Amino acid sequence: MPSTQKLYEEDAFLQNFSAQVVDCQPCKGGWAVVLDATAFYPEGGGQPCDTGTLGGAAVREVHLRDGVIVHLTDAPLTGTVEGAVDWPRRLDHMEQHTGEHILSGMLHRLYGAENVGFHIGEEAVRMDMSLPLTAAQLSEAERLANEAVRADTPVRCHVPETLEGLDYRSKKELEGPVRIVEAGGDVCACCGTHLRTTGQVGAIKILSAQNYKGGVRLAVVCGARAWRAVAEGWEDATAAGRLLSAAPGRLTPAVEHLQTAQSCDKMRLAALQNALAAAMAASVTPGRPCVKLAEGADGDGLRKIAVACAAAGASPALCVSPEGRYALAGDNVQALCRTLNAAFEGRGGGKPNFCQGSFAALPGLKKLEEELGIRS
Ligand SMILES: [Zn+2]
Repeated sequence: MPSTQKLYEEDAFLQNFSAQVVDCQPCKGGWAVVLDATAFYPEGGGQPCDTGTLGGAAVREVHLRDGVIVHLTDAPLTGTVEGAVDWPRRLDHMEQHTGEHILSGMLHRLYGAENVGFHIGEEAVRMDMSLPLTAAQLSEAERLANEAVRADTPVRCHVPETLEGLDYRSKKELEGPVRIVEAGGDVCACCGTHLRTTGQVGAIKILSAQNYKGGVRLAVVCGARAWRAVAEGWEDATAAGRLLSAAPGRLTPAVEHLQTAQSCDKMRLAALQNALAAAMAASVTPGRPCVKLAEGADGDGLRKIAVACAAAGASPALCVSPEGRYALAGDNVQALCRTLNAAFEGRGGGKPNFCQGSFAALPGLKKLEEELGIRS
């Protein structure tokens, strides 16, 4: 079969076209349709395929096989067909792809980092860089990449007669005619679809960076996605700021202030629970079991009270919260812990001298005292 004429390489902004069906075969999921020419970009080089319609049929997938572009459609086609590319989807891909060229080129020129992996995902563009890069380095590259966007220079795609003396980025050694894409100072071999100027990218934002295979994996958004990320992030920051009584830009000191206050509260709570444990332990009868209800105590408080009561001679000492959490201290309390769990739908356990857990059925003080033989 002769190779398909790639209309998207000649004009990446071609949305509608006419073409001749040269082959149509039933296949898994529909029909495999081959045209003499197409504006549908096939999946490849990190850029997902186009979708759209072809002669009234939906185009679900597009693949390149040995120079032939195969469209997976939901209906059989013959003769001359009109094709329409899902334009918002393609434009989004071109924004991400062109932005990736500019940022990858900047990271390469600034730090010698190679792009070793690229994929336009549903949420963000994944970019794997060959070297570890600091937050400051990424921030500087992002700043300069956005400067290149605002400079609004033409994006040029061409197949040079010779590659001799041409310095360009490429993931692999290339032979034969190579399509070169120049964008914002970057020169790279690429067969994807691109915008006409760097300015059409609008903005480039690195969302996250994590160490990956000795380098760094970036999540990047460009174009409308970048605007959306900033708008959503700002909305989130404004909502958080309302809770903190601080404007976006002043959230970090506000959170630090909150954390300091929280550690003071933790220390105060620990001191109060120590005092509560000492006060409760003062009223135990040595050699007798005791059950204490501790309103407001957390897990640590329950433990302190049970341990203090046991140390004062209670045998054993059970401390429960109104929510059903408990701490049990004394000699060999594990068997009693199992008995209480069975009686009150409890979970938990521990060591011979200390157990803790919670009761799903809130038993009430009286029932617990009965269980421990305080009442009968
Ligand atoms: Zn490209």
